[in-house]
Amino acid sequence: MFVYLNNKLVLASEAKVSVFDHGFLYGDGIYETMRVYDGVVFMLDEHIQRLFRSASFIGLDIPKNISDIKIAIYETLQANKLTNAYVRLTVSRGEGPIGLDPDFCKEPTFVIMTNEFKSYPKSYYEDGIKLIIANVRRNLKEALNPQIKSLNFLNNILAKIEAKQADVYEAIMLNVEGFIAEGTIINIFFVKDGILCTPSLECGILDGITRALVIDLAVRNGIEVREGEFTKDELYNASEVFITNTTMEVMPVCRVDDKGFKVGEVSRLLLKKYRQEVTGYVYEKKGEHPSIWE
Ligand code: PLP
Repeated sequence: MFVYLNNKLVLASEAKVSVFDHGFLYGDGIYETMRVYDGVVFMLDEHIQRLFRSASFIGLDIPKNISDIKIAIYETLQANKLTNAYVRLTVSRGEGPIGLDPDFCKEPTFVIMTNEFKSYPKSYYEDGIKLIIANVRRNLKEALNPQIKSLNFLNNILAKIEAKQADVYEAIMLNVEGFIAEGTIINIFFVKDGILCTPSLECGILDGITRALVIDLAVRNGIEVREGEFTKDELYNASEVFITNTTMEVMPVCRVDDKGFKVGEVSRLLLKKYRQEVTGYVYEKKGEHPSIWE
């Protein structure tokens, strides 16, 4: 397996980053996770745009332009002969002496890791997965904005520990005002009186790329969407609940704390539409750049 490290592909066993890297010392860096279907990185432009947005939030200069990043991602996939895969792209502040000053680090560390995508069990999509509402609250957006997809993940890890202790798949965090925010690696949706509800970006969440597409698909399919502030009681009283992210797509939820849910029509429809969107996207992109897939 090859890893892209700074400017070249190296064997995974040789892909080493310094203990002085500020990503390791302080969680000072950003990342993206992408999914590859049939050799095509789904919504690559959107992921790269968000990477640059995260970088700009923390004043980090990514040492490559958009086109170089795309080439590096496809080179890594090709070197590893992967067509159905995930891609993790990390940019950290780089190596520097101990101390918080970002100017201590002269060159960011740029890493692309890929691996085969192992599908989630079918039962997750057919029967749904279980969630809890975590005790830990989502980071305050005025302190560490969840829109920065940063390496600083302890808030999410604390919620994940709660999920594991409760023997469920995911934990939903409320924001400090007590409104639903998001899960450790997912955005959340629920249906109430036929309306698709999801926390607004103002609640302090990551602007999920899957979330945005699902909202668009819902609107295109005549489903009313409401983005706003919602309490956990509104979630408990929903007729259906699902979660979204790049690798899980649209995954139904069968339980939140003690409240059970059936996998509903809206979840099923949006999962189907999402997968059709992926198929269309892959077909279109293959037509645009045939040389990449030859
Ligand atoms: N929320 C958080 C905290 C995440 O880490 C992620 C993805 O990793 C998401 C939401 C979903 O985002 P996307 O749909 O862009 O994968």
